[in-house]
Amino acid sequence: MSWFLRGIRSGIRTEPLSPDAPVLAGVTPGFPRETRFESVADARDNETRCPTGAIRADGEVARVKRDRCIHCMRCATPDGSAKMEWTVDHEWAHGGEGSGSLPAAFRRSLHVRVIDAGDCGACLNEIGHLDDPFYNAHRFGIFVTPTPRQADVLLIVGPVTQQMQAALKVAYEAMPGPRRVVAVGACAVDGGLFGPSVMCGSGAADVVPVDVFVPGCPPPPLAILHALRAVCGQEPLER
Ligand code: SF4
Ligand code: SF4
Repeated sequence: MSWFLRGIRSGIRTEPLSPDAPVLAGVTPGFPRETRFESVADARDNETRCPTGAIRADGEVARVKRDRCIHCMRCATPDGSAKMEWTVDHEWAHGGEGSGSLPAAFRRSLHVRVIDAGDCGACLNEIGHLDDPFYNAHRFGIFVTPTPRQADVLLIVGPVTQQMQAALKVAYEAMPGPRRVVAVGACAVDGGLFGPSVMCGSGAADVVPVDVFVPGCPPPPLAILHALRAVCGQEPLER
């Protein structure tokens, strides 16, 4: 009972999802954004600091490829040199080669099959939070289903290890159409830190057609929710 009263007193409520809503600390790690430095050396310094090749120096400007970023923060907290500017948004999803949003009939009823294709556990953990009262995906008509035969969306996490490639194809083929595929996390987007290697390729798109990519390592629940709402046409994919 005490946890219930504490919850009421603390005023915790479901995240409103408005783009103008204040972003609470810890809700999103954010991303570095394109930054112009005073010298070419500062831009190059950040390029060499990045362990994944997400930053590319172009003269005095350091550009960022979000799909490669793993939020290691090395470009946000450097020792004694210029740091990258940072953004704390959460609308990170972008389109692949797919066919856009699902028809309007899916706007209030979207069923999602989650496939763990070798993830480290963190992406799966973020997806698990979608059903929390704080994120409450149900209010948007978004539900997780245990079988691909009832799924409209395949949500893939992990780099798709060789052992999971056949299973992923079977799950995709079992889905009724129209269907969409969402790759969640740097690993599923392009292999992340693990691919390409002897264990996996360059992400989910090597195995099945991917409609939407959600970068981040891991992407927070708000970023995943944004992708799912875009898939069913509740909001635009890219603003
Ligand atoms: S946070 Fe880390 S991975 Fe991301 S751009 Fe900065 S240095 Fe690279
Ligand atoms: S993207 Fe990052 S958090 Fe997600 S499975 Fe890969 S390593 Fe883990």
